[in-house]
Amino acid sequence: KLHNTILELKGNIRVFCRVRPVLPDNDSSGTDGAVVSYPTSMETAGRGIDLMHSTQKYSFTFDKVFNHEASQEDVFFEISQLVQSALDGYKVCIFAYGQTGSGKTFTMMGNPEIREQKGLIPRSLEQVFETSQSLQCQGWKYKMQASMLEIYNEAIRDLLSPGRPNSLEANAAVNKQYSIKHDSGGNTIVSDLTIVDVCSIKEVSFLLQQAAQSRSVGRTHMNEQSSRSHFVFTLRIFGVNESTEQQVQGVLNLIDLAGSERLARSGATGDRLKETQAINKSLSALSDVIAAIAKKEDHVPFRNSKLTYLLQPCLGGDSKTLMFVNISPESSSAGESICSLRFAARVN
Ligand code: ADP
Ligand code: MG
Repeated sequence: KLHNTILELKGNIRVFCRVRPVLPDNDSSGTDGAVVSYPTSMETAGRGIDLMHSTQKYSFTFDKVFNHEASQEDVFFEISQLVQSALDGYKVCIFAYGQTGSGKTFTMMGNPEIREQKGLIPRSLEQVFETSQSLQCQGWKYKMQASMLEIYNEAIRDLLSPGRPNSLEANAAVNKQYSIKHDSGGNTIVSDLTIVDVCSIKEVSFLLQQAAQSRSVGRTHMNEQSSRSHFVFTLRIFGVNESTEQQVQGVLNLIDLAGSERLARSGATGDRLKETQAINKSLSALSDVIAAIAKKEDHVPFRNSKLTYLLQPCLGGDSKTLMFVNISPESSSAGESICSLRFAARVN
């Protein structure tokens, strides 16, 4: 493994909070959609965030708090070293957690077409490919493999599955198992999952588009879009130095989690209730796992959800985890925001 001193000093789990701007459409106090600050119920300063909710003040501190002024570039600046460590042979997970509409997908994916709006995924991939190229002159050769899946109601769906249809029902019909195993080398193996060799940013961008399409095709309710499933992007990185024969194997997992909003609020019944229960279960399993790792407990309950079992080799050990907790600034979201911040504080 190569150096990565700053992260080493800080420990392996970090939490960043990001508060999105008030959006022009639902901001009654805004002028011309220009966002200058938050409603009076919220304040951010340095690493802290304060929230007022029914006359009570709630304060939280994280490794970093990004306010509404933080650009995609500002955010990426703070994680680029973590991305670099995947090239150095580390296993890395970056999560986005928060209620629907809080900016998870904006943070992770953003708008890849518009330079300033590009999120972490396209920026990370650009960095990975650029750096791997520039390391060639030091004798390093890299091979990359990408896979993309979503977890919906505790079932895995391959987003790069060739051919259509690719609904959960169709997969069940052709007997795709997507069962999760771990090999002795600390790698996750998902049976039947499509893994694609990628050599350039162009190739991965194409796959990301394909995945986005595949996600929306599988939706029964278009308005719910992707907020009811976890999206997991995985890049496996194999590096070998031809002069020193040094080898590294890193993994970069970028995860856009399902919306964390609570059951009572969504007033769910039937299928929707089942969905919400599956989401609640897997998010609390994730929180349990990260909290157990942070406290260095002997037993880490990885098996309690598909998500944590899938990511087991990339959580804990000497892997590196970063959790974004995304927050909506509107006073109407305060209750939900406090839940999100509590979740994040628990793993911090
Ligand atoms: P989520 O994925 O958590 O449901 P989105 O990422 O889709 O939320 O964000 C909801 C809306 O807010 C989108 O229209 C998105 O473009 C916008 N948005 C989120 N974060 C920001 C930000 N930092 N700056 C500008 N717009 C944002
Ligand atoms: Mg989203």
